[in-house]
Amino acid sequence: MLIRSYLTQLHQKTRNEFREGKQSTSLYSLIFLFFSGLAYYASARFGMSLFTLFPSNISLLWLPSGIGFLMCLRWGWKAVPLIVIAAYYVNLPGMEVSTVTNPKLHTLISALADGAESYIAMLLFARYLPSGVINPKSLSKFILWVCIIPPVITAAVITTNLSVGGYLAEYQLEKFFISLLLANSLGLMMVYQVYNSLKLDPLQFKKPAIGLCFSVALIAFIFLLGVWRYPAVIYLILPVLVIMSFELRLLTVAAISTLTFISLITVTHFNRGPFVALTDQATAFELMAFTFACAITVFGLSLQQYQMRLAKESGERWKLAAEHDVLTGLPNRRAFMPALTKEHHRSVRLGHTYCAVIWDIDDFKTINDTYGHDFGDRVLVRLAQIMRESCRDIDYYARIGGEEFAVLLPETDIESGKNAMERFRTQVAEEVFTAPDGSEHSVTISIGIACLNERRINETELLAEADKALYKSKEQGKNQTNSYSC
Ligand code: GH3
Ligand code: MG
Ligand code: MG
Repeated sequence: MLIRSYLTQLHQKTRNEFREGKQSTSLYSLIFLFFSGLAYYASARFGMSLFTLFPSNISLLWLPSGIGFLMCLRWGWKAVPLIVIAAYYVNLPGMEVSTVTNPKLHTLISALADGAESYIAMLLFARYLPSGVINPKSLSKFILWVCIIPPVITAAVITTNLSVGGYLAEYQLEKFFISLLLANSLGLMMVYQVYNSLKLDPLQFKKPAIGLCFSVALIAFIFLLGVWRYPAVIYLILPVLVIMSFELRLLTVAAISTLTFISLITVTHFNRGPFVALTDQATAFELMAFTFACAITVFGLSLQQYQMRLAKESGERWKLAAEHDVLTGLPNRRAFMPALTKEHHRSVRLGHTYCAVIWDIDDFKTINDTYGHDFGDRVLVRLAQIMRESCRDIDYYARIGGEEFAVLLPETDIESGKNAMERFRTQVAEEVFTAPDGSEHSVTISIGIACLNERRINETELLAEADKALYKSKEQGKNQTNSYSC
């Protein structure tokens, strides 16, 4: 319990911290910025230890490109110096080779290009995706404006810079450019995918569902089988992730797919799995192309599922709204009629009796006219509450008209129905209402009951009989109950 509440709190805090455009300069925010810079540095070191190119010690900044983007989304330009410093120190050891005249300058240019990528990606994101990535259509925009254009600019600058510095021979340029582009796009996609789903569909700390455990176990099994024995099996991960996207929440799918891809990258580094090719560069290239394609597919599908879930929930909300009365919160006539029909068929089938009741407030028009509509509303709300409290769990009640209500009493004969409604009528009469002028008043109601005994009529006719009984109560002087057995 304690751990769960702690995690929820931390989660809320992180979410608040990561709200875009909230340009806070609080101490907490600055500390958070600093740690993000450290995360950028650490993930770059991690990335560097997995992927190396020609020259073998220049890192492909894949994961950090995503982290840098999030930092800029959160802190704007303030994140850029941290990104540049981290990128500079990550690359400097590998760039300081004796054959190059000014390694520090070339490292700085590359680091500036990394910082620029994050910042440009953030600007384009704010410009073209003001509501974020919410559906497959906005995902296409995200791929173009965030995953392609900024990395193309950065890859071009860094490739030129390394070429001028003498790090890369001419025949290596094209491949280096493409690998760098793919790596940065992949990092942006993977990090943003998790962040976005956290934002759209917050994590709920519930007991792990069987479906989730099964999916994780299946992916782990396919993964191990693919890595240690049958490389081609690894391709089955994609369909499993796709099926998962239909069943699990956005964040769960994003987290599992990202972890899977990072594990795949890690094992490839140890020369295992289906992507190990003759050269390191070919390996990196194939691996990234596969991972990038899978990540986009899974991301797109889970967004689609998310949209469908939202549509379904909104449909349910509309149905609820359409079947309830705003003032009292009670079901309305639209909801009452199917409930009545259902109970009628059930009672007829089982040979049981039930009662349909209609009641109406006496002289409500006068009450409204004398003390105002607001006072009338208060009376309606209070009477609805008394009715709700006096009903059994199996009873069904509704506001079927302006000041007209209906009650359905299953498994009830005429005597019990009359007793119940008389009790309710007395309760209403005893209630005291204070008018706006401070005077105290009580209201009365008239009730009509129809009890289905001999099953000769249908439910609509039974309700009409209840209405007749109500009319009789009104005619005989109001504040009373009349009933018919039908
Ligand atoms: P009777 O005893 O014969 O039922 O007379 P009555 O005045 O209660 O009946 P009538 O049908 O003439 O008037 C019903 C009144 O209920 C008229 C309308 O202004 C009022 N009413 C209907 N819906 C609402 C509501 O949501 N809020 C308020 N305050 N009044 C309502
Ligand atoms: Mg009335
Ligand atoms: Mg009426």
